[in-house]
Amino acid sequence: MQRQLSWIEIDLNQLRKNIKLIKQWIYPRKYCLPIKANAYGHGLVEIAKASEEVDYFAVSSLQEGIELRQADIKKPILVLGGFLEDQISDLIAYDLEFSISSLFKAELVEQFLKGSTSQAKVHLKLETGMQRTGSRPQTAEKIYHYLKASQNFEIKGIYSHLACAETPNHPFNAYQKKVFAEFLDKISFADDLLIHLSNSAGVISQMAPFENMVRPGLLTFGISAMELPQPLLDIESFFSLKSRVSYFKVVEPGCGIGYNHTFLTQKQSRISTVPIGYGDGYWRCLSNQAHVLIRGKKYPICGQICMDQLMVNIGEGEAYVGDEVVLIGAQKDQKITLNEISKMCQTIPYEILCHFNERLERYYINRHEPACALTMEMPQT
Ligand SMILES: *Cc1c(COP(=O)(O)O)cnc(C)c1O
Repeated sequence: MQRQLSWIEIDLNQLRKNIKLIKQWIYPRKYCLPIKANAYGHGLVEIAKASEEVDYFAVSSLQEGIELRQADIKKPILVLGGFLEDQISDLIAYDLEFSISSLFKAELVEQFLKGSTSQAKVHLKLETGMQRTGSRPQTAEKIYHYLKASQNFEIKGIYSHLACAETPNHPFNAYQKKVFAEFLDKISFADDLLIHLSNSAGVISQMAPFENMVRPGLLTFGISAMELPQPLLDIESFFSLKSRVSYFKVVEPGCGIGYNHTFLTQKQSRISTVPIGYGDGYWRCLSNQAHVLIRGKKYPICGQICMDQLMVNIGEGEAYVGDEVVLIGAQKDQKITLNEISKMCQTIPYEILCHFNERLERYYINRHEPACALTMEMPQT
């Protein structure tokens, strides 16, 4: 059977390890795992199924919520983004919790549910300084009382989002928490109302005393631009991008490689061709910048990355057609991290992860399956 020569490998065992460590760190708070954008490129349903130990999922849209429900995911799911009127019926039909950021939207939901016995499960989104979605405290207070007085709403939580958490001592963090805390002082609520604020950066450096749930996304995927505290040091990325050498040639000194000859060989060089390119979501700006791993050694990409292929200068090194190539991840004692790749692209790891597309198949390493499942599914030499 012909299989893709390039693929993404996801180690669900490491996902479970990360979740365990974060769970201990955030205790006694609840764990809401954001799995928007195809679980940061890791695969929405597979990640949800393997994340048995979290309490909640958060997604960005109705569509992602429906996909999870259709895959039989039973945990509470919070839709973070704004919604439009014609989505209300599906949000409720699929038992999705959603965010209320204005009185207008609350009234639309109320109208929709008028005369019915079903309830909308909602989280009130409080504006504390991100200026994205969210209602300013004064209005939020009105909305809160409106929701509380209505038969048609079950208020599940109140939340906000930190704008500058990656800079722990940025004064705006304290400001946002102050706004949130003052809002909470003004209203009455039961102990089981979910109060949540922190994303990954917040969880690492500054959880608020009033929050009883947190929303660490990137950290769960094992990636952090910030230094991790000691109890979280074993958290690791479990996303690997792999391919295999598809072609090999020896070229003479002074030979231009690839489109526009942006690389010239200094001496006789061995050039390996790898069947992956920007058409798979591997950024073209990594041309003549990034390295790959073959047989445990780091080699530079030379010339422009093409849509479907790229060339690697292995100098006098050894590589054979069929050898595994690691573009992100580990091989023997070498490693290429998402953080270093994203710096080369002058972006953040989130964007690199979201870029890989459907041309790359995702393979899952999962201890709940027989040990041979992976080898059977892997592309065959
Ligand atoms: C994406 C998102 C998160 C998770 O952010 P990370 O930086 O990945 O932890 C949390 N809350 C909201 C509202 C989000 O949109």
